[in-house]
Amino acid sequence: MFIADTHCDTLYSMLFEGWSENGFMASKEKLVEGKVNLQTFALFAGARQFKDTPYENARRMIEASKTLNIPFITDSLPENPPTTLYGVYSIEGGEVLEGKIERLYELDDELRLRMIALTWNYENQIGTPAKIDAITGLKPFGLALLKEMDARGIYADVSHLNERGFWDVYENMSLPPIASHSNCKALCGSYRNLSDDQIDAIIEKNGYIGINFYPHFLKDGGENTSVEDVIRHIDYIAARGGIHVIGLGSDFDGIEVQPKGMEDAACMYTIANSLLKRGYAEKDVEAIMGLNLWNLLKKGDKIRF
Ligand SMILES: [Zn+2]
Repeated sequence: MFIADTHCDTLYSMLFEGWSENGFMASKEKLVEGKVNLQTFALFAGARQFKDTPYENARRMIEASKTLNIPFITDSLPENPPTTLYGVYSIEGGEVLEGKIERLYELDDELRLRMIALTWNYENQIGTPAKIDAITGLKPFGLALLKEMDARGIYADVSHLNERGFWDVYENMSLPPIASHSNCKALCGSYRNLSDDQIDAIIEKNGYIGINFYPHFLKDGGENTSVEDVIRHIDYIAARGGIHVIGLGSDFDGIEVQPKGMEDAACMYTIANSLLKRGYAEKDVEAIMGLNLWNLLKKGDKIRF
């Protein structure tokens, strides 16, 4: 079974958290153990406690990715889903681009960016995150950026973005919005989760929602979570007619606690087993575990330029 994930912060952790002594949650070893075939690695620009600029930090993360011993796909995807582990690049926090379209060209030409989370938790040159307010729309640079991303087949990742910004993406971009690591607000009230209207809009546009494993985004209070809580969010989106937009967005190496039994990427296959046990058809399980993302990324390649 092809297994894919839309978000981890491993490159950030490699540089800044010093977690290497204990091993990463999404290390090569753990990803292989969990039978993951495609892992999206974020260039995470959010941290402000460091002296380097977001762009400089992203550059260092790109260098770090080269030490992982994982092959990264920096061009169009192969025809068929890979059967061994590959990485692809994304940006989390559009301040990496420093308000310059040229930065997008530079990084995308080099890395074939798959998605850009327009904001992290700070306001930037593109827009305003959900953490700050719900009503401030995208800025002129943000709207100009969407056009360039459309032309390059790079998805706008609305995880962290505020509600008005979400609708700006929905209204102004021909590529559908994707939420690489967000859950359902109806089941867990975090500002990081999606309202029913947002979920329905993503379903209508054939976008993508990667279920985040962070206990505080799975369940109010975040206590005693397990794979069953991940399944609950999958059930909710499926019941709204969204089987075709559901995927996995673990957030590994960006979360300090995990659901019981889901401590690292080695657990990924247990989600497939739980879905099958719950009665999901095999083809739906395959879609959720990775083919939905694969098809989306292939579509991005097809319309590129
Ligand atoms: Zn995040």
